[in-house]
Amino acid sequence: MKILEKPVPPGGTIGIIGGGQLGRMMVLAASRLGLKALIFSDVADVPAFQVTPLQLVAPYDDRATLSALANVCHAVTFEFENIPADTMDFLAALVPVRPGAKALATTQDRLTEKSFVASLGLRTAPFFEVSSLEQAREVFGKLNGEGILKTRRFGYDGKGQMRAISGDDAALAFQALKGAPCILEGFVDFAFEASVVAARGADGSFAAYDPPENVHEHHILRRSTVPGRLTPHQAEEAKAIASKIADALDYVGVLAVELFVGKDGALIVNEIAPRVHNTGHWTIEACACSQFEQHIRAVAGWPLGDPARHADAVMENIIGDEVRAWESLACSGALHLYGKKEAKPGRKMGHVTRLQPRNR
Ligand code: AMP
Repeated sequence: MKILEKPVPPGGTIGIIGGGQLGRMMVLAASRLGLKALIFSDVADVPAFQVTPLQLVAPYDDRATLSALANVCHAVTFEFENIPADTMDFLAALVPVRPGAKALATTQDRLTEKSFVASLGLRTAPFFEVSSLEQAREVFGKLNGEGILKTRRFGYDGKGQMRAISGDDAALAFQALKGAPCILEGFVDFAFEASVVAARGADGSFAAYDPPENVHEHHILRRSTVPGRLTPHQAEEAKAIASKIADALDYVGVLAVELFVGKDGALIVNEIAPRVHNTGHWTIEACACSQFEQHIRAVAGWPLGDPARHADAVMENIIGDEVRAWESLACSGALHLYGKKEAKPGRKMGHVTRLQPRNR
């Protein structure tokens, strides 16, 4: 694995794998710091290509393109977690990749991820491996009623998930998910959802943003509100959870930890995202250093920025056709549109952040 020995100087180039809105906002943050950013995408015409002339288009396992990327970049990062392990290994031998292979390998598989979180002494929903119809029926019996069957890999925005209220149901869900390796999770009757977005620097320094409360609709993030209903004590606890996870993964960059807040006040880890996160978009306006700048700083080996929040914020996603109201949205807060051509149902087209003077 290649190690970054000195910080990437201004004028240096950061490679970003993936060209969606997260990559786009990373490019914008990098350019503010005087760094160049190159986007490598497996499809042409992605949102991030509109903001940088440095572009590569090829399948993610194309070795010639990976070599070209390593040649022109001082460090490489990614905006989504489903990068093939081979790609990661090949690239990491040529150029520093942050966060590293350990973070990806741990978070790409829900069973590995949940087992890792539990091994740190953190709470998760009860979970069981499911690799066959019989196993789906059998482990359902270990839950207290309802469960959710989730594919171990490649799930996002609720894709690859089905609820189950009986053993037969769990078996049917396993069939519907085409027999892919799964986990069955106990359903958490939470009070609300929250997340913590935090960064770990190459020197082990740590900086966490205040954790927002999040609302999902149809499995897609609708809104993040900060401060939400978390108590100051829970907010500190959430930051400590992120710190523990980041240290254990030897992490460099921004990560997000999605949490369920139980009715008894307990924080239950749902998922780790080894990247910048939709629930951190409000930091662009409400913090001196946004999650995107923070991530670029960490990847480039720079000192982390101040995550302090100077305003209260509500970030609302603009999904599908809602983007047609862009004129009124433009008057209602800080508008971000991602430059996507087609407004398909469920597609994140942009977001708007509304600030209020900081109240607590
Ligand atoms: P995930 O893809 O695991 O992040 O799940 C997407 C959303 O589904 C979460 O944000 C929750 O709203 C819901 N969900 C997932 N797992 C559970 C669970 N074990 N109990 C209750 N709700 C869940």
